[in-house]
Amino acid sequence: MNYVLIRDDDTHALTPTDYLERLYHPFHERKLPVNLAVIPNVNTGVRRPCGRPEGFLEPPIAGPTRNVSVSDSPELLSYLKSRPGYCLLHHGYEHAYFEFNTPDPWDAARRLDEGKEHFRRAGLRAPGTFVAPYDKLSRASMKEVSRRFRVLSTGWFELGRLPVAWWPRYAFRKLFRKPHWQAGGLRLLSHPGCLLSFHRDYATMLDSIKAALDRTRLTVLVTHWWEYFRDQSVDQPFIDVLHRTAEYLANRADVRVLRFEELEGERTPVDETEFALR
Ligand SMILES: [Zn+2]
Repeated sequence: MNYVLIRDDDTHALTPTDYLERLYHPFHERKLPVNLAVIPNVNTGVRRPCGRPEGFLEPPIAGPTRNVSVSDSPELLSYLKSRPGYCLLHHGYEHAYFEFNTPDPWDAARRLDEGKEHFRRAGLRAPGTFVAPYDKLSRASMKEVSRRFRVLSTGWFELGRLPVAWWPRYAFRKLFRKPHWQAGGLRLLSHPGCLLSFHRDYATMLDSIKAALDRTRLTVLVTHWWEYFRDQSVDQPFIDVLHRTAEYLANRADVRVLRFEELEGERTPVDETEFALR
């Protein structure tokens, strides 16, 4: 059996729910779970280094600069609760640029704990999986995440960003070329880049996804809802690729699409050897 996790990043209090529904209705219909990485308390003033707003804050979404808690969005909350096919992940705190690249453990801890409080206030289950903005974590953040979560989903791992106690396991992981591993009580999942992205060629996107599935037993497919609705218009050809992906995954009898929640407990549907160092 092969396993796939669909991870859509950057849902926040102001995300239009009709965007999510348009993207993921075909997944819900086919009973394919979708993991939404949710920003607990988005800061609408954050900018990329180039000075432009983040894609998830492009007009007409942003408005005046402020922090907006996921708990302050009745529309989003009622939508999420009406769609049990979504599994929520904890994505950053306010999504300031590289906010979890901080060397300060207190700052990382505060952002994680306050973020969790926003989920609690919203009446949502506190996620057991963490995703950092831009998949960027300092060593201090890595340690604080391992104290609070069971799963970290990120792009790749660098020795210099890992707690020293994890280095022997990291070395084994490199030796055996394992995409996923575990250390410090955390299951650590990498992904093969954002295969569902408007930066890629739509004509070959599904083939790249098929190739990724053939390479590993457990594949994390990352995308961003706002990429399908750029510049105040709908990128229907890109949405079509996403929906063809849903159809492809549903038709593969040897593929099971998972919720990250399923990897957060002691026992998982995935063979333990996927994470173990043997
Ligand atoms: Zn993000």
